[in-house]
Amino acid sequence: MKVAQVIVDMPLMQTDQPYSYSVDAMWDIEVGMRVTVPFGKKDTLKQGFVVDVTEGERENQDLKPILSIEDTEPVLNHELLSLADYIAQESLAFKITCFQTMLPTALNKQYEVYYEWVEQEEHCFIECFDTNGLVAQKQLTDQQRRQFLKLEKEGKVRRLYKDKKKGDIKKGFELRKIVNDEVIEEVYNASKKNATRWRSFLMSLSQLDDQWYNEQSLRSRYDWTLQNLRKAESEGLIERREVEIYRSVMEVEYQPSFHQLNLEQQHAFNAIMEAFHNQREEVFLLQGVTGSGKTEVYLQAINEVLKEDKTALVLVPEIALTPQMVARFQKQFGREVAVMHSQLSNGERYDEWRRIKRKEAHIVVGARSAIFAPLEDLGIIIIDEEHETTYKQEEMPRYHARDVAIWRGKYHHCPVVLGSATPSLETKARAKTGVYTELLMNERANPNAMLPQVEIIDLSKGALIESQSSLSIPLIDAIKETLLRDEQVVLMLNRRGFSSFVMCRDCGHVLQCPNCDISLTLHMDNRKMRCHYCGHEEAIPYYCPVCHGNHIKYYGTGTEKVEEELKKLFPHENIIRMDVDTTRKKGMHKKLLKQFENKEAHILLGTQMIAKGLDFPNVTLVGVINADTSLYLPDFRSSERTFQLLTQVSGRAGRGNKQGRVLIQTYNKDHYAIQLACQHDYERFFYQEMHMRHIGNYSPYFYTVSVTIKSEDEALAYRYANIIKQELCPYLSKEAIVLGPSQQPVARMKNQYYFQMVIKYKKEDELLEKLKALVVDMQLNERRGLYISIDNEPLHFI
Ligand code: ADP
Ligand code: ZN
Repeated sequence: MKVAQVIVDMPLMQTDQPYSYSVDAMWDIEVGMRVTVPFGKKDTLKQGFVVDVTEGERENQDLKPILSIEDTEPVLNHELLSLADYIAQESLAFKITCFQTMLPTALNKQYEVYYEWVEQEEHCFIECFDTNGLVAQKQLTDQQRRQFLKLEKEGKVRRLYKDKKKGDIKKGFELRKIVNDEVIEEVYNASKKNATRWRSFLMSLSQLDDQWYNEQSLRSRYDWTLQNLRKAESEGLIERREVEIYRSVMEVEYQPSFHQLNLEQQHAFNAIMEAFHNQREEVFLLQGVTGSGKTEVYLQAINEVLKEDKTALVLVPEIALTPQMVARFQKQFGREVAVMHSQLSNGERYDEWRRIKRKEAHIVVGARSAIFAPLEDLGIIIIDEEHETTYKQEEMPRYHARDVAIWRGKYHHCPVVLGSATPSLETKARAKTGVYTELLMNERANPNAMLPQVEIIDLSKGALIESQSSLSIPLIDAIKETLLRDEQVVLMLNRRGFSSFVMCRDCGHVLQCPNCDISLTLHMDNRKMRCHYCGHEEAIPYYCPVCHGNHIKYYGTGTEKVEEELKKLFPHENIIRMDVDTTRKKGMHKKLLKQFENKEAHILLGTQMIAKGLDFPNVTLVGVINADTSLYLPDFRSSERTFQLLTQVSGRAGRGNKQGRVLIQTYNKDHYAIQLACQHDYERFFYQEMHMRHIGNYSPYFYTVSVTIKSEDEALAYRYANIIKQELCPYLSKEAIVLGPSQQPVARMKNQYYFQMVIKYKKEDELLEKLKALVVDMQLNERRGLYISIDNEPLHFI
């Protein structure tokens, strides 16, 4: 008898281990396949993953059987299975959650259990069954469930299960003609003269070769009716077959062409290729100023890798996964490229995944989770904009794509390239100490494109045209000049909505979200107040709900408000606004950028989603409405974030042959992050920031783990946070620093209170184990409404 070890879809610490099941001897079962198994006292049907198969000595009556195998070949190969081990270990996540994260959503099935009566006879449950003779398990009471289990044992009812979500393979038809043209001509001559559509059908059929064609495209090309198709099939002129079709995400024509690399690019390219040819798992930091031609280096490196029959994986941040970026890869490599990002439907993503698995696509370009693409024979892994925080998943499993990339690079003995104009401090520090190989590109690749001139506008000196405005006179003048030259403007404001809050001028009351400790944001598009944390909406107040006065006033600024100001100042200009609110609908992102590219508008206003990856040569002015929005976030990385954001957005200016200009409005003109971003001086910023980190005992000098406790009961959460601290402290060395527990900056979100504790350490061998044990204990407390989560190397915190 065969015995399979199965990790079952029960994300709990107590069940985070393989369970043994017996396997029907006739079945071909392999490690990495999905199976359906009965689980627990009630034998609920669960999906599971086979992680081991052994030949059992003898029949083991006690083992439950695997009910069915879901796959004809494994969905997880050996590499991904051991990668899941690594991630589960590092992020304290459940195995099952890791497996599910690696697969497209369409494969993570859920079942519903039904019963049917085996023999028609009078029985007492008759009223439970529907007209099809089925009853859903979930409709039964607990007592009925037990009775049904008994009936099942007695063989009176049979258990069926249905997928809640289908595997979602899209089917279509292909056809080909199976007679020669003389036969078609005979049929034509025999047909009635007035059967014009049938006759034109026959005409077009005779023009086809005898290969298989996609039916849908023929129908739209020749305007065939379904009737005539059926007729042709029944008369034996054509044959049809059902095939799997892919929902295509191909957008551009295949038109490869490479630039001649300049000296800096050539040097980087050679170093990476040398590692590739020697199958060395070297990690490179490719640090190049915006527009230095990093993407060009990626493309040419991938081209070499493909020549050796290897594959390539490219990660870009979701917001940089612009149509422009995707188009560059598709233009160069055509159908070789599989694209994976969040705007695809589950079905589309599943199609791309299958193309990779079947080795029809050898290059994957995608956002964070694409790091799990089932590519074999990896020859290079590239992470563009490696400093982006979106590479860290903020839910279980809390993995960082950069770490996964380096793990996979080791597995495949291939180079990993981390690209950025503003590397994270951690990465730069590793490059400085020789853990990574540093490759620098200091010049823009287009010899006519210069780094833009960056100027600071000091808002504290009353530079705004009026006190309620968001725009200063120098910025407005610069916009005017740019428009006069028929060039384009990009304006960034890292805050959506109309204004940051609404306050009563009489009593000072600020309208708050009822579920979160944060003020509501005004949105004029649907005339509502909205909470950016939980989505709560309510009407705009005319009277203050506290003092009933009618002196309600809007403070601060948001994209919508700036748009309104711009419309007043430039009534004849089209303005494109890009933020979460205008790009929520699928395809809008692309549409708006296309409009800007076609110069249907000269002003593009947006949140940080416009700071990355755009390459429009006609943009010569970039304005930052308020550089301070990211500067005083309660996070030790706020300076780093500000420096990165300002550098990125400045990089959108002057990418073509015309000189670019950048204006930054700020109340903090002397802050080193702003000053050094203006001077394009990453090196000095790095040393200054490292100094601050050293003084504050922060990363990269210390590792960090954060422990977050949440509950609807504030006192309970606080008490438990302190208990955890007491339990943990005896296991820590003197060097470790424990901060908190303290309330998070937004203490309450969605009616849950949050307390956070941060442990900073250099080396603690027992820490992860101890934390894991805590999670097990704490899960027992979930029934009391107490939740704990642990984040290894968090990117956002106090
Ligand atoms: P980055 O990814 O570093 O921002 P890109 O690869 O997008 O830079 O290159 C910026 C611009 O320079 C693009 O328009 C690109 O086509 C062009 N470019 C890149 N390499 C070269 C080269 N060797 N010669 C001329 N132009 C180049
Ligand atoms: Zn809220």
